[in-house]
Amino acid sequence: MGSILIRGAKLADPEKICCERLDLLCRNGVIEKIEKNIQDPADKTVDAQSLALLPGLVDMHVHLRDPGLTYKEDVFTGCRAAAAGGVTSLLAMPNTKPPMDSPALVEELLQRAESACCRVYPAVCITKGMKGEELAPFMELQKAGAVALTDDGRPVENSLLMARAMKEAASLGLRVVSHCEDLYLSQGGLMNEGAVSRELNVPGVPAASENAATAREIALAESYGVPIHICHVSTAVSAAMIRDAKKRGVQVTGETAPHYLLLTEEALRKKNADWRMSPPLRTDEDRKALLEALRDGTLDAIATDHAPHSEEDKADFYRAPNGSIGMETALSACYTALVKTGYLTLPELIAKMSLNPARLLKLPGGTLRAGGPADFALFDENRRWTVDRDRLHGRSKNTPFHGMSLSGKVVMTVCRGEIVYQDG
Ligand SMILES: [Zn+2]
Ligand SMILES: [Zn+2]
Repeated sequence: MGSILIRGAKLADPEKICCERLDLLCRNGVIEKIEKNIQDPADKTVDAQSLALLPGLVDMHVHLRDPGLTYKEDVFTGCRAAAAGGVTSLLAMPNTKPPMDSPALVEELLQRAESACCRVYPAVCITKGMKGEELAPFMELQKAGAVALTDDGRPVENSLLMARAMKEAASLGLRVVSHCEDLYLSQGGLMNEGAVSRELNVPGVPAASENAATAREIALAESYGVPIHICHVSTAVSAAMIRDAKKRGVQVTGETAPHYLLLTEEALRKKNADWRMSPPLRTDEDRKALLEALRDGTLDAIATDHAPHSEEDKADFYRAPNGSIGMETALSACYTALVKTGYLTLPELIAKMSLNPARLLKLPGGTLRAGGPADFALFDENRRWTVDRDRLHGRSKNTPFHGMSLSGKVVMTVCRGEIVYQDG
């Protein structure tokens, strides 16, 4: 495995205030020391004078499509895309084929992931087969390696069943991640319901579909005194409800995704399905409210909801499934939307993309310290680049950032002490 010495990088770690030039030495997958002027010999030395050194990102919302839908992505191509984006740990969503609801499926995924270039943590179904009828065997799934519970892609429609899931999960210390959508309100919708959808005569998904579901999850968490994590928050009202609930002491946490920070429903005018996702891109007011919610701590995390689909799947705007890829572009997109605009500093952004998700899921990493895992990335804040869907590393190309110019780029990623990505 060997040793790597990073020289003179600017530390951008949310747990360390100092941003001075430091060296980092890792050996056999572990950080040995972070100091000025390390003199020890190393197998490889990297001059990082003009680069920021970050803990590897922890993406808590990734669809690897493995097993069953591997023509879209698999654990290996997904992890390659992760590495190219500075992601060293990811939470794999369970809406696979079959859905991840048995210990055997979890064990098989973890076995495949052993030779992938990023750490894979399984999320498993709340309900058996994601049918919303019967709870999955949480304790056995946890023993097999599951770290979170979700029926993501769908809500758990039965409120009583969801309450039971949240209580049982709380007793096991497992996090419940909720995809907030009222299917009666969203059914058939292809984009945000509003002025643009009416103009285009495209069926819409109202903000109420997400807001009503977020309100229910908060009500359950508050009534029973148990935690809930709201994924892909896309509306101003959902963010406001989470803010108010947090003030009352409700154990609610929230994440949003990079595309909601840079794009709006206006992007749907070209009727290209790569810009269709669930929840849909919303209005500019929603977008600004999410930036503010990240700044004031209402939203704890940014996760990509990386959702690969083949060209064929995405060919027809009206029939295509929801979702877009995002791991390779996430840090640059967020740096552009949040750091360049002054909403967050780089270490504050890294807290949302690494430290906080690691804490929420109780995973190692999220910060750089001697004795900790050698999972880190080098980021060039001065690089501007244009996203080209044909130059990305995953199996699918459905990025909503194609053609966009972004600030900052990951130039090297190290996971378990191995260089898993190098730019150029
Ligand atoms: Zn979802
Ligand atoms: Zn998702």
